[in-house]
Amino acid sequence: MRTTLSEETGVWRLRGSKMFTTLAREATHIVVGCLVPGESSWRERFALAVVPADIHGLVMSRLEIDSLRSCPTYEVFLDDVAVAEGSVIKPPDAFRVLIDVLNQERVAVASQSLGLARRALQLTMAYVEQREVAGGLLADKQVVGHRLVDCWEEFESARLLVREAAQAVDRGERSGVLPTMSQRCAATMAHGAADLGVQLHGGGGLERGTELNRLWRDTRLHLIGPVAREEATDRLFRYMRSSFR
Ligand SMILES: Cc1cc2nc3c(=O)[nH]c(=O)nc-3n(C[C@H](O)[C@H](O)[C@H](O)COP(=O)(O)OP(=O)(O)OC[C@H]3O[C@@H](n4cnc5c(N)ncnc54)[C@H](O)[C@@H]3O)c2cc1C
Repeated sequence: MRTTLSEETGVWRLRGSKMFTTLAREATHIVVGCLVPGESSWRERFALAVVPADIHGLVMSRLEIDSLRSCPTYEVFLDDVAVAEGSVIKPPDAFRVLIDVLNQERVAVASQSLGLARRALQLTMAYVEQREVAGGLLADKQVVGHRLVDCWEEFESARLLVREAAQAVDRGERSGVLPTMSQRCAATMAHGAADLGVQLHGGGGLERGTELNRLWRDTRLHLIGPVAREEATDRLFRYMRSSFR
């Protein structure tokens, strides 16, 4: 994180940029994570600043991304943006707010993965019930049925985990373990479900503009953002090492 927030002659100023800021142009205000000056760790210097999206010095440009195109994302540039004193959450409070928001976001994104996966499964079930290959319906081929049941079981397992994580967040638990695990599990499951759908649709699964192909690209995003699968796994393994001692 390189975006800075510094107080100069009584005015807070933001300088920096943010590569991916989803719905920035559609929003009235943007919450910027930034660092105040100092030598301590970034957590101890982390601050949040709320700025109107049309404020002087804030410029954005849309990024062309192949996933979730209905929910555009932007690169945002902040050039000496003046921030009102009452619109800054300073350290150390800002880091606590960040953790709470991240946990809620993980569960929300996991729920999004569940919805995408359910739709992929619906489309694929409808297709295998009508597509005839090698003298019979795809649905009547045992290997197809077994793969779809694996997918359905993974879907139901992810759904229960996401519910458990949502309840933990609702109870005010601050641990990121269940939210991170539920997001990782749902994202992996959803892309697997969409990928199986593409496979069973054959060449048609790769056709741009079809709903299933869109689901395949949309589910791919959640293996990268809001947290890359590897990064989420690293965090979970750190927790696992301490809790299985
Ligand atoms: C459509 C879209 C919308 C987004 N919206 C927002 C938003 O609104 N707000 C916001 O803050 N961010 C947003 N992001 C950013 C998103 O959170 C990042 O893309 C994500 O965290 C990955 O960071 P990165 O792209 O910098 O990849 P990097 O951090 O450079 O990682 C690149 C790759 O390295 C691998 N990797 C990463 N960490 C590890 C590790 N620990 N061990 C091994 N391999 C690893 C992964 O495969 C990863 O995909 C959005 C991204 C996209 C694509």
